[in-house]
Amino acid sequence: MAYTLEHKTPKSVLNKGTGFLSGYSHSLNPYVGCSFGCSYCYVRRMPVATFRDQAWGTWVDAKDGAADVFRKELKRARNNGPVTIFMSSSTDPYQPAEAKAGITRSLLEAMANDPPDFLLVQTRSPLVKRDIDLLVRLGNRVRVSMTVETDREDVRRQFTPGTPAIEARLRTLKLLKEAGVPTQATIAPVLPCTDGFPRKLRPLVERICIDDYFMGDGSGGRRTRSLGIERLYGEMGLKEWYGPEAYRYVYDRFLETFPPEQVFISQQGFEP
Ligand code: SF4
Repeated sequence: MAYTLEHKTPKSVLNKGTGFLSGYSHSLNPYVGCSFGCSYCYVRRMPVATFRDQAWGTWVDAKDGAADVFRKELKRARNNGPVTIFMSSSTDPYQPAEAKAGITRSLLEAMANDPPDFLLVQTRSPLVKRDIDLLVRLGNRVRVSMTVETDREDVRRQFTPGTPAIEARLRTLKLLKEAGVPTQATIAPVLPCTDGFPRKLRPLVERICIDDYFMGDGSGGRRTRSLGIERLYGEMGLKEWYGPEAYRYVYDRFLETFPPEQVFISQQGFEP
């Protein structure tokens, strides 16, 4: 998606982990805004997006100097106990702007030199492979959670046309695994998929997280409903996939291929 990139200098980059992220001491967003512009992105309904004139997905602010601010905040945060970081909750740290701006990489460099207790990197972008050298240095203190909501390209194009192809994400999971970086595949929000989906992920990951709008959008599905997502299902003749029970069908398919201790539901799957 075409977007404008602006550069801002943040006063602070570590936010307290609350609500869905209460298992973390902090969340960290290297950017404000996200040019992947997913149709179902609930951030569209949050103040960060509603106070802007431009449409969600068409603007991105890079937090210049974030790594310097982070180094100082990390030292202070340690005084209050273990520092566990979720990156990112309202942007994708490896969206296209990262290839130019490098904010996420600068933060990872800071973390590789002075590791937090745990870091979860939440992304849907193959660009994360660029930073394997730094992720490896974090050892078991990091997990890369790759969003793969479906194995159907037609479904991806309908719901998130501005995002990387499914195949590229699967190849990235393979590279991360070969490098020894802990990973998980995050099927969130669960979208219509084939029954063969679990078999495609089986060689790539030992941890699956399944979530949907109704458990995971922070409002019991209300935010998603207000985005009119149901219409997209209707256009594809897939309405039976829009509902609080749909995840269960996918969960059961995954349990035929993965041991139960490797398949997590909603918030549990994102915890450190
Ligand atoms: S990648 Fe995440 S933050 Fe970005 S638009 Fe999609 S759902 Fe929203």
